[in-house]
Amino acid sequence: MTQIPPTIPLQALFAAQHSASRAQIDVPLALRRDRLGRLHDLIETHASALCEAVQADFSVRSAQLTEVADLFVLRATIGQLSKRLPQWMKPQRVTTPLYLLPARAHIQRQPLGVVGVIGPWNYPLQLTFGPAATALAAGNRVMLKPSELTPHTSALMATLVQQAFAADEFCVVLGGADVAHDFASLPFDHLFFTGSTGVGRKVAAAAAANLTPTTLELGGKSPCVVDASCDLSDAALKIAHGKLLNAGQTCVAPDYVLLPRGQEAAFEQAYTAAVARLFPQIAGNPDYAAILSDRHHARLSALLDEARSQGARVVDVAPQGMASGQTPGTRQMNPTLVFDPAPGLRLMDEEIFGPVLPVLPYDTLDQAITFINQRPRPLALYWFGSDTASCDRLLHNTVSGGVTVNDTLMHLAHEGLPFGGVGESGWGAYHGEGGFLRFTQQKPVLVQSRWAMGQLFYPPYGPRFDRVMG
Ligand code: NAD
Repeated sequence: MTQIPPTIPLQALFAAQHSASRAQIDVPLALRRDRLGRLHDLIETHASALCEAVQADFSVRSAQLTEVADLFVLRATIGQLSKRLPQWMKPQRVTTPLYLLPARAHIQRQPLGVVGVIGPWNYPLQLTFGPAATALAAGNRVMLKPSELTPHTSALMATLVQQAFAADEFCVVLGGADVAHDFASLPFDHLFFTGSTGVGRKVAAAAAANLTPTTLELGGKSPCVVDASCDLSDAALKIAHGKLLNAGQTCVAPDYVLLPRGQEAAFEQAYTAAVARLFPQIAGNPDYAAILSDRHHARLSALLDEARSQGARVVDVAPQGMASGQTPGTRQMNPTLVFDPAPGLRLMDEEIFGPVLPVLPYDTLDQAITFINQRPRPLALYWFGSDTASCDRLLHNTVSGGVTVNDTLMHLAHEGLPFGGVGESGWGAYHGEGGFLRFTQQKPVLVQSRWAMGQLFYPPYGPRFDRVMG
């Protein structure tokens, strides 16, 4: 069992980070790279222990899944940060308008100070260490609060971070909702939250009391529009991959499919084949993660029960799946399709966050666009097809956090694209230079010369002033 580091009171940790950040405002490239290097080494040295901890928290989740979905992404993030830092840290020259000449202007990029990061449980390493690495690269001190629902992983992270970093440069705070609430109430220079929309509202309210700016990476229902022009078996494979990675417990998983009316049977067949190809067996297959907890499993089962009771057709597409009388402690859940979900079902209201995929028919693209626009703005949107005019129409007439065309999830994996939500799926984005700037004060600096054109506008205003303006 992981040794949990001794608890230092939250306020004391914050005070230490705050005074350290004010004592060293200019954080040189070498120190930033050194911090990134220590985080990288921590991940490399303890990769298997970290994968084992995630596996212990989920009960079923293969080390390879954590390698690809957490550690691979983290390595790419840290590598890119380290490489690009010299360029990103440079002052940005800005041209000066005639009336201010011969002044020169630039934007100086400075650390904000102390950044708080609150993380979720679903990708417990990527979504905590990733933003923390970005904030460290921007020269900040970081306090990280991982989820209490992944206790093995969070405790190991706390221990490893304590071994590699001074508490006033980077530390991990453990605890549940009470601690999280107190954490969000600290007067950070920036608070970065990943989690549900409901808790995001509380975080925004707590931060507002301190005028702390926030980034909110939230959830929602991400639609997947299948166009009549698409190759259905290719689309079904990519939708099944995006939906069933981590058993649907992915913020950008396709939440529901909009399908041309009449293609339901073909889609059911293609999706069933795709699931069998990705997961030849569900029960006991470690590549097919378990649902995190009994509570989350019960919530998903209740969504399905309600859908069935309201006349939906629920199709179990699991090859060698879980028996319906679930053995306590094994929380894997069969992938299902849900056809004809009645309006008003919780399934069509709440983010599903599990391996359940509702399929809704549409007759015209306008209908699909209206359906999407009547709901809160989604974190991600997917489109499958070859008719680029349809694709353009959908993209121009819907607003979402991000889009992948002819695949799922992949816009998130592109480090050059800003990643974030819009409206109820969040605000602010990170990844790449956008992430670096999220944690950076962009300070405008104007350097005036002794002789300045601006003096022409000094009082007394008289005929001279009228001549200049005229
Ligand atoms: P959650 O909102 O329940 O918890 C997230 C974190 O918030 C946890 O660390 C928790 O301790 C903390 N928390 C709880 N109460 C708090 C409070 N009052 N103040 C401050 N913090 C508090 O989310 P979850 O169940 O861990 O994660 C699943 C949700 O996260 C889904 O909605 C999913 O879509 C979303 N998510 C979004 C992204 C993204 O990048 N947009 C990524 C992953 C997950």
